[in-house]
Amino acid sequence: MPDVFADLVGQDEAVAELRRAAGAAAAVLRAGAADRSPALVTAGPAGAAEAAPEACDTEPGALDPSTGMTHAWIFTGPPGSGRSVAARAFAAALQCTYGTGCGECPGCHTTMGGTNADVRMVVPEGLSIGVGEMRALVLRAASTPSGGRWQVVVIEDADRLTEAAGNALLKAIEEPPPRTVFLLCAPSTHPDDISVTIRSRCRVVPLRQPPAAAVAEVLVRRDGIAPDVAQWAAAAAQGHVGRARRLARDPEARKRREAVLAVPRRLTGVGAAFDAASALIEAAEAEAEASVSEADATERAALETALGAGGTGRGAAGAMRGAAGQLKELEKRQKSRATRAQRDALDRALVDLAGFYRDALTMALRAPVDPVHTDTAALAGAGAQKWDAEGSLRRLEAVLACRAAIEANVKPRIAVEAMMLALWKG
Ligand SMILES: [Zn+2]
Repeated sequence: MPDVFADLVGQDEAVAELRRAAGAAAAVLRAGAADRSPALVTAGPAGAAEAAPEACDTEPGALDPSTGMTHAWIFTGPPGSGRSVAARAFAAALQCTYGTGCGECPGCHTTMGGTNADVRMVVPEGLSIGVGEMRALVLRAASTPSGGRWQVVVIEDADRLTEAAGNALLKAIEEPPPRTVFLLCAPSTHPDDISVTIRSRCRVVPLRQPPAAAVAEVLVRRDGIAPDVAQWAAAAAQGHVGRARRLARDPEARKRREAVLAVPRRLTGVGAAFDAASALIEAAEAEAEASVSEADATERAALETALGAGGTGRGAAGAMRGAAGQLKELEKRQKSRATRAQRDALDRALVDLAGFYRDALTMALRAPVDPVHTDTAALAGAGAQKWDAEGSLRRLEAVLACRAAIEANVKPRIAVEAMMLALWKG
């Protein structure tokens, strides 16, 4: 029977650590059932190990941190490596009746299905997680778990915390309620992604980019995708499991990818470079629009219904004023989400494009590695001959510089135009 960790592709070390921790956490609960006040040992900046002996003397329910359980965790790894999959699976294992993440019991089922009352998943829709949201979350996380096990808070994209939100979270992590566990997901533990003080309070679980073969295997096994399609998609997605699945299943996603990979041969002059930049930006906007428009309409309809549009009672005038404010707030949130969706769509396109120039580079160097994009390998080979290794590398760097510029808030159109010109000139 597949347990809750089955979807974590190519991450054997991380899974082993999480299994140990879940077992240790279950032991704390069992000890706590016999004792009045179970508590975890907190991982502190001074090192968790020093805190252990004292804690063990005074609290029979506490555990030796070397067995693996603590209050705050960070899952790091490149996009698509499974940070949030790992966090959710670990949350399920903590709520599992058997402490293993069996995948069968109500604790596992409800957590994996997103309905467990003691597990909160924070998925930021905009560009950042605000302090208000974080304070409310920290407050709720301090309550006693209704299922008698743990309160688990999963924060996806913890690198998008505002500074104030990070401080609110830090306070909670510094003095965690005895049964509360924070699971953070971030690309890395670089100070740009996560503050040094938060990092120092967390145990880090690094995830790696899963090998294409492992991604293909899970697409075949779990999604019933044909092996040849799975292999192609896994390579094209460069270790991003969700992206591989989308490419294998969604013809629209394949079409968008093909349009992006047509860019290198379209770059025949300055005008063509600007045209290609416009096309890339507009495609990202259209993709983002398609992904958020339905949710936007549903939310707006729900809010209008909740506000009782068209009420005539004595309080109606005041209610309308409040309603205007709420609608404005909703529009602001939706705009932020749309911007995020555009950036994500554009970034996917840039990753595909980077894969093409990486293929050209590895071919120019005659490196014994498989191409990322098997379907444009011939084109990349022609590029390799024309540009040689240095020219291919300069182009790859131009794509990576564009990603970095957008990440640093350069206007996407400016960054993409600069990139296209660099790709054309070489
Ligand atoms: Zn279970």
